[in-house]
Amino acid sequence: MKISNYINGEFITTTEWIDNINPATGEVISRLPRGTSKDIQNSVEAAKNAFPVWSKTPLETRINYLEKIASAIEQKLDALALAESIDTGKPVTLAKSVDIPRAINNFRFFAAMGRTFHDETYFAGNNILTTRREPAGVAALITPWNLPLYLLTWKLAPALLMGNTVVAKPSELTPTTAHMLAEILHSVGLPKGVVNIVHGYGSDIGDTLTSHPDVRIISFTGGTATGARISQQSSRHFKKVSLELGGKNPSVVFGDCNLPLTIKGVTRSAFLNQGQICLCGSRLLIHKSIADELIEGMKKEIATWKIGNPQSEDTQFGSLISAQHREKVEEYVQIAKTNGGQIIFGGKRPKLTGLFERGAFYEPTLIMNQKPDCPSVKEEIFGPVVTVQTFETEAQAIELANDTNYGLSASVWTKDLDRATRVSSQIRAGTVWINSWLVRDLRVPFGGMKSSGLGREGAYHSLDFFSEAKTIGTFVNPLPEETLL
Ligand code: NDP
Repeated sequence: MKISNYINGEFITTTEWIDNINPATGEVISRLPRGTSKDIQNSVEAAKNAFPVWSKTPLETRINYLEKIASAIEQKLDALALAESIDTGKPVTLAKSVDIPRAINNFRFFAAMGRTFHDETYFAGNNILTTRREPAGVAALITPWNLPLYLLTWKLAPALLMGNTVVAKPSELTPTTAHMLAEILHSVGLPKGVVNIVHGYGSDIGDTLTSHPDVRIISFTGGTATGARISQQSSRHFKKVSLELGGKNPSVVFGDCNLPLTIKGVTRSAFLNQGQICLCGSRLLIHKSIADELIEGMKKEIATWKIGNPQSEDTQFGSLISAQHREKVEEYVQIAKTNGGQIIFGGKRPKLTGLFERGAFYEPTLIMNQKPDCPSVKEEIFGPVVTVQTFETEAQAIELANDTNYGLSASVWTKDLDRATRVSSQIRAGTVWINSWLVRDLRVPFGGMKSSGLGREGAYHSLDFFSEAKTIGTFVNPLPEETLL
């Protein structure tokens, strides 16, 4: 496939290219343009020019576009899932059951919201105050490689619904579904310049995009260090910024949990998508009384997961995103070992043969007994590596859960609902699941505390973020002077 930038309704080629590598085989599968600052400038200009018409396009028309895009994605579900699996190394079954259906749902969900969304009206005597939501302008959408189409569409649908125009910058590691989405937008006749997609390295083009004076909104999902840089770059122009960043999420398991359910739940939370989901439970905190049983159960559970060819329907565990990322993961395992860590399972590359011999695979890994201040316990590894710590009291569990700079999510596993409520209310995280994990309802706010981010997205929170509130006061009878505060 030839991947190109999509600027002002045209597929633009380039002179400099980046190899797109299938991480499960190490083979170059396609190439993508190495976008330049000029590409960003052209895209922002196209988006700015498209804004006056798009922002005044009737809401019903914008909703119809969202619905058409959802249907077009649905028609290409299998092709998109395959592309996502090849780009990321994730099992194709996961892409088919989560990534692409969620992308469809993102458009359908926000289309439905558009139909029920309304302005606010306040009466003061016979006078009327109306607060309405106006589109903000050009929105920059910057997304990572772990859930490429899922996260891009999570931002794109509300941005378009609210009448903004867009410049998107996907991760250069996973460009294919963003390119296929551009083809879909083109095929449904979205007016030129409304959505522009520029591929390439964040280090080449990121600053130009985030510091551009005509970009009014930035929605970013990615690492905390990049988020901090974007925050600095954008501050000069007081842009609206939403930052969905990293996590080091605890799974807190009490002695009275439903053990079979918990074993399945925390194993999935630890290793789904090879541990490369910001919400993965990468710190396992277990009550001493059941630590041995839980770990033994996880060992047996993970042994049932097939590792290998991501495109095979019976694979549950694919490759990491790149050989370079695997090296980072391996470094953290080494650091854990030098800090007293004992590998319970995993801790090495699996032996695969044939096509997948050179893939970036790494076994699901559980480590315990490392020092509590070891970087492997403190820092986000973003791979299939989970550290175990044990506790004896509820207070210790809460202290351990909060002993991190991050605050994205947590899960609590217990049959005691009183305890579940007490503990969840004391954990500093944007989402806490009780006896479950990754159950997403698009109506609820999503985001993190502390170094896990700034702001919330989802339902009204997204509509609020992708718009500016304006109040218009209509005064039929002038108010008495004493109310004019
Ligand atoms: P990065 O922060 O490295 O990259 C994210 C995106 O930002 C990429 O498109 C990247 O481009 C781009 N980028 C890099 N530098 C800049 C810059 N200076 N200005 C603007 N954009 C830039 O994250 P990863 O792609 O490695 O993704 C993994 C991270 O994402 C993890 O920390 C994970 O926790 C987090 N994440 C958070 C989620 C949440 O909802 N809270 C959900 C999913 C992931 P390029 O790839 O070219 O560098």
